[in-house]
This record gives sequence, C-alpha cells and structure tokens, in this order.
Amino acid sequence: MDEEAIVESKIAPPALSCPKCSSLLPSELGILTCSICSSKVDVKHPVTRRNWENEKISCPECSKVLVVGVDKRPAHLKCISCSTHFTVAKNVPRVEVSCPSCERRLRMKRKPGSRDIDCPACSTPFKVTF
Ligand SMILES: [Zn+2]
Ligand SMILES: [Zn+2]
Ligand SMILES: [Zn+2]
Repeated sequence: MDEEAIVESKIAPPALSCPKCSSLLPSELGILTCSICSSKVDVKHPVTRRNWENEKISCPECSKVLVVGVDKRPAHLKCISCSTHFTVAKNVPRVEVSCPSCERRLRMKRKPGSRDIDCPACSTPFKVTF
C-alpha cells in the first residue's frame, strides 16, 4: 500500500508563550510541555478546534474540496469522491530569519527551542532561538 499523502492544515493554534519562562510554546492544543522549562500548560482554544472541524481541504488526489469534520490535528480523512486516504497534518508556522553574516533571508519552521543553522549562501553557522 502507498503511504498516505499529507496535507498541511492552514489553521494554526494561537502562538502562546510559557507563563513561567515566556518562551514560545509548541503550536498545538492540549497539555503542552514547555521545551525550555518543562512546565506543563493546558492550552484550550475552542475557536481553533471549531475552525479545524470546519476547515476545507482539497483532496491531494482528485482535488475535491472536503470539510475535515475533525477537531484535532493530525486528522485522517477519506475522500468521498475517490476514496483516497490522507492525513491533514498540523500547521507548522514558518518565519523568516536573516543570516547575521550575509543577511540572506531564510524561511524556516518555527519550532520552540534553539537550533544550529548553516547559512546555505555563505555557510556561516549561527543559532536561532524561538
Ligand atoms: Zn517555560
Ligand atoms: Zn479525492
Ligand atoms: Zn549567510
């Protein structure tokens, strides 16, 4: 069997920061663990859940527009038109950072914590923290 196609959700939960240490929390709902101070934060956001449920997504196979109808991500769907199974993955917010050496702008996924990056233009290593 083929691997299920993955479609990224367009709806992101609100960007929240940890009430204890103010660092960015993962862009999810439910009980989240701060990647910096390990505090547990219960994020409830009924608006996001409702939007997730009503989100329309195109089938990756036949492009039919489907209503997801599931209030969590990832969600597994089956296209009513072509019966393809696919996954609606959570939205990963992307941000632009610029290289401190050559100022080339890089687009990356905004995940909490620190990452070491090598600039693809000038190969300067630098650290990004969200
Ligand atoms: Zn924290
Ligand atoms: Zn389809
Ligand atoms: Zn650079």
